[in-house]
Amino acid sequence: MALSPIVEAEAKKRRTFAIISHPDAGKTTLTEKLLLFGGAIHLAGEVKAKGERRRARSDWMKIEQQRGISVSTSVMTFDYGGCTFNLLDTPGHEDFSEDTYRTLTAVDSAVMVIDAAKGIEPQTLKLFQVCRMRDVPIMAFINKMDREAKDPIELLDEIASRLALDVAPMNWPIGMGQNFRGVLERESGRLTLLGDASEPEQTIADRRSNSLADRVPAAQLADLDETMELVDGALPHFDVQSYREGHLSPAFFGSALRTFGIRALLDGLVAYAPPPRPQASVDREIEPGEDKVAGFVFKVQANMDPKHRDRVAFVRLCSGRFMRGMKLTMVRHAKQLAVSNPIFFMAGDRELADEAWPGDIIGVPNHGQLRVGDALTEGEPIKFTGIPNFAPEILMRVRLGDPMRAKHLRKALEDLAEEGVTQVFRPMIGADWIVGVVGQLQLDVLKTRLEAEYNLPIDFESAPYVTARWCDADDSRALDAFRTQKKSSLAEDRDGNPVYLARNTWDLNRIQDDFPAIRFTETRERA
Ligand code: GDP
Repeated sequence: MALSPIVEAEAKKRRTFAIISHPDAGKTTLTEKLLLFGGAIHLAGEVKAKGERRRARSDWMKIEQQRGISVSTSVMTFDYGGCTFNLLDTPGHEDFSEDTYRTLTAVDSAVMVIDAAKGIEPQTLKLFQVCRMRDVPIMAFINKMDREAKDPIELLDEIASRLALDVAPMNWPIGMGQNFRGVLERESGRLTLLGDASEPEQTIADRRSNSLADRVPAAQLADLDETMELVDGALPHFDVQSYREGHLSPAFFGSALRTFGIRALLDGLVAYAPPPRPQASVDREIEPGEDKVAGFVFKVQANMDPKHRDRVAFVRLCSGRFMRGMKLTMVRHAKQLAVSNPIFFMAGDRELADEAWPGDIIGVPNHGQLRVGDALTEGEPIKFTGIPNFAPEILMRVRLGDPMRAKHLRKALEDLAEEGVTQVFRPMIGADWIVGVVGQLQLDVLKTRLEAEYNLPIDFESAPYVTARWCDADDSRALDAFRTQKKSSLAEDRDGNPVYLARNTWDLNRIQDDFPAIRFTETRERA
């Protein structure tokens, strides 16, 4: 393998990240404001209709109309501070699915939005745990400081203890709710005050500045001085290495709605967030600066219209310079694919519109050849690792209307599982297939596609399980004994791996205590 200085330089400028949060914390509002600062939109919500950007956008819309696949919000690209940012959408609310988790395997860092009144909420915690598996560095944006919030020290304490993470405040809020005045930057001592809609932030160089007294009541300033002494003594300071290793989160206080604190967050991402990392594969790590293109599929979006069976595979580029029309090898099939109609999420200059670099995402239209986890390469064949299946959180029995078609169902479920739509489990006792997903949407997609593409009308019936764990052991005899003893709670995944189906959390804890020689894992590499 050879390195290319041009590829290395482009890779260094990339910041590929996702926002993790619980519904309503302010992800959409923050996204709009990030795009606003990045110049991708004029006013929040209004897409900039100009030159290349308009072309890029109308290209997507054409593709969306032709193919019935909504891609335009999946990746948002903007430039800021000399960097190109790729913000990958992590669908929440009713769109929550295994794709939400898998998107986190395609980013180099994450921003965790926390509602200052609520602290850590369940979905944030789940997504955080997925980030932690890969030590993805996380910045925290403590949102809604213009509302009544928890006490900031208690809030950071809560985050630190619930996530087992050091949290280093980068700035400190002056008041909250109606009395929110702005923030004090911890290292520089500079103040940024909350302004109005036309100028949301006003910077004051120094705590001792005379103009401060007109803007912030004396009592609040005295309070701030006192708190800062406490904060500096008690809370961790930022350390870039610890952040990049995933042990420490810098925290920025702000209000997305009031466009306050966004710049500080972006500056933090430019200065500290990691550029594309080397990507693990079975044989070696792929360096972003390598001259040959390599990328992996982390998501496949299918057309829900049965007349159009097209798919778009979302490919995260890991190395090399990708250009439109390039022929890449689909490693699993050992076949070439001419990528003549890639969907670019780049909104850059004209010269850049036909190429993409490490850290960028391209959409590759295909007829179903590409599946989650697949590698596309220009050089040697590569099998990437780190794009696993995640333990399901909803398990359902599949009931087939016509029992004569059981074989067809098996084939269809295996196909769709391989594509990444669902996971399938075959209980060791009993005949019904069990499907496992992490969000309701996946079940809807599965049902629709089974009917439209395979002519298999099915129903779901609830199964008495809350989650599943893959089972593994160093001692094969221990695994065999476990299999025999627990047969009624075991199933096999589509690769024949044993999976424990847990009826509740108590049951899951108990089984782990009872069988210490068995590893129960929440993820499993796709075969
Ligand atoms: P999402 O579900 O995480 O995408 O959250 P949204 O961005 O849709 O925000 C949820 C609600 O919180 C909306 O009504 C927003 O206007 C509101 N919101 C978001 N950020 C702020 C903030 O900084 N301050 C206040 N007061 N409200 C906010």
